Amino acid sequence: MNYDIKFNDTIQRQIVRQLRSLDRAASAEGDDEALLRKVSKTKLLGAIGAASGLPAMPQVKELADPQLLAGCDPSVLSQGMFAPLRCADNQILLAVANPWDYRADEFCNARFAEHEIFKVVTLASEISATIERSSQSTGPSRAELEALDIEHSGNEVSDFDVTRTHQEPIAQLVASMVSDAIKRHASDIHIKTEKAQFFYYFRVDGDLGPKVEIPLKLKDRLDAFLLNLMRLAPEDRSKRPGMSGRFTASYYGRSVGIRFERHRSYRGYHITMRLLDKTHLEPRLGMGTLAFDEVTLFELEKALAVPSGIIVMSGPTGSGKSTTLNAMLRELNRPEDNILTLENPVEDEIPGVTHCDLRDSSEFKPMISSFMRSDPDVIFIGEVRDRESAELAIEAAITGHKVLTTIHTPRASQIIERFQQLGIERWKIAQTLKAACAQRLVKLLCHNCRQTCEGIPEREMRLFNLGPEWAKKKLFIHRKEGCNECGGRGYLGRAALLEILPITPRTGDALAKGELTPYELEIEIRKETALPSLRDNGLRMLSEGKTDLDALRRVLDLTYLE
Ligand SMILES: [Zn+2]
Repeated sequence: MNYDIKFNDTIQRQIVRQLRSLDRAASAEGDDEALLRKVSKTKLLGAIGAASGLPAMPQVKELADPQLLAGCDPSVLSQGMFAPLRCADNQILLAVANPWDYRADEFCNARFAEHEIFKVVTLASEISATIERSSQSTGPSRAELEALDIEHSGNEVSDFDVTRTHQEPIAQLVASMVSDAIKRHASDIHIKTEKAQFFYYFRVDGDLGPKVEIPLKLKDRLDAFLLNLMRLAPEDRSKRPGMSGRFTASYYGRSVGIRFERHRSYRGYHITMRLLDKTHLEPRLGMGTLAFDEVTLFELEKALAVPSGIIVMSGPTGSGKSTTLNAMLRELNRPEDNILTLENPVEDEIPGVTHCDLRDSSEFKPMISSFMRSDPDVIFIGEVRDRESAELAIEAAITGHKVLTTIHTPRASQIIERFQQLGIERWKIAQTLKAACAQRLVKLLCHNCRQTCEGIPEREMRLFNLGPEWAKKKLFIHRKEGCNECGGRGYLGRAALLEILPITPRTGDALAKGELTPYELEIEIRKETALPSLRDNGLRMLSEGKTDLDALRRVLDLTYLE
């Protein structure tokens, strides 16, 4: 069921019955399980409300009185998935995610015996958000930690609840560190040992925060606790240079995946924990900013599945090339693959991937030679900018590696010419290039203040080669003065436009023999595959009302037709 709470069969049947009577589309679906998988959470909530006889409210967190909540134990609330919202005139407004759970009544009967309880049903995520807002995370004090006796602990935990109170101080330390990181929307937690210091800090919005010191003597104990949490053998830690694992933190009933990477260091270890908080996801292919159309996405995944060869992303600076490549690295990031990156600077650290930063261009050659000796499967080269880097990238691909890189050219088909300009023979590029991509980031209209407009003016239609169908199209444009939501900009967020040219063995061969120019190749691939170009993708977003011509013409040359 597409819902955070599991109901028993009897209740589920009642909910399904309500769903079918409330929604015509739902009544058409024959299979209960299929219906529950497809239906939106809000519709489901409506049905749960109808089945339980309670009013359904998809949003309640704004209603919550922080003082009332502060008096309740957050772990009791999150276990029973309920939250008292307000209290007035001996009446309590209580939000529950599961109307059939007795724990809310039990709690309120004991706690608010004198009050009349008014229940509403809401989404589990709303309950979590309500509890999360009101709670303060507290960790053990430094004095408490200093007073700890070091002893070995052997108990195993897999789903680690970071929002309840733990008896064992090390567990409490990890719990408060992780819950604090989730609360601050950190992307990573780093734990580092130095000569005389042991500390952790968070990365939030790309920046590392202040250090939080931990008594040095807890170094081994904390290490052992974390390795134990992931069932990694602690005796390996001095032998193995790197260890990876993952565990799930339970944060007010919400699961947050944590990817763990530990490197042995001179003074002990360096741990990176990447928080895979689903509510603040880092860019992933097919989602958020990188929500490409299905055909493009499929072609991209196909290119990634090729065992060796080079995938090149082109576009001007700031077009999000490396964001997409990093999302691709995340797709490729499996424990059995050795992924090395050579970047200047390292933009997005992915646990499990060995990132190397180039201090200056003279380091490139020795670094890549060293890479090739360290048994890589995937190599990410930040940018091909000169003959040397072009040669080494192609060489790595020819010798059986998967290479991802970026280059500065406006269009995907120009990638081949750019490599030639850098002195690479065409047959070598044709043989190794698996996909040529180009990308732009286009601003999205603020949904709150975008304005409708009727078609595109005649002059602009001619200027940008738009067909007669654009004269009457219902479109949206940005509001110049914006609104509060978008900070007066009229736009909110950006989305990536991507064009991809897959190079098949046949087209690669024709290209190598000089039977096709890169431009002809592009025309041919488009004819064969119906893959959209940057322009096609841009115009699609325009007609969908996601962006306007103003934003589009800033990032795309629309004055020619391909
Ligand atoms: Zn706005």
